[in-house]
Amino acid sequence: MGRVYQKYLSGSKIYSCSTCHCHLACHEDVMSKSFQGRHGRAYLFANVVNVSVGPKENRVLITGLHTVADLHCNVCQTQLGWKYLEAFDQAQKYKENKFILEKSKLITSEGGW
Ligand SMILES: [Zn+2]
Repeated sequence: MGRVYQKYLSGSKIYSCSTCHCHLACHEDVMSKSFQGRHGRAYLFANVVNVSVGPKENRVLITGLHTVADLHCNVCQTQLGWKYLEAFDQAQKYKENKFILEKSKLITSEGGW
């Protein structure tokens, strides 16, 4: 496998992959901390980096039918969460093209990077 190009974020608080510590998102990109992931609490982000998006599939979640795609860390391939591609309920449309990351797969670092 070739060398993985890794992006680095700067900000007061960075969310990183708990397995390989690569940067995933900034605190400023957090839209909600009250989502439910497969393994407990999950965060909704407006933007993430260093992830690859898997094939899309339709999935019935707590809030109804959505078209989603799994997200994997680009560096260590750990499954981190999913991306919302399409929501079928008008009230859920704001989640389209946003990213869910499982809290249990994240570590945070505050400043000093
Ligand atoms: Zn990783």
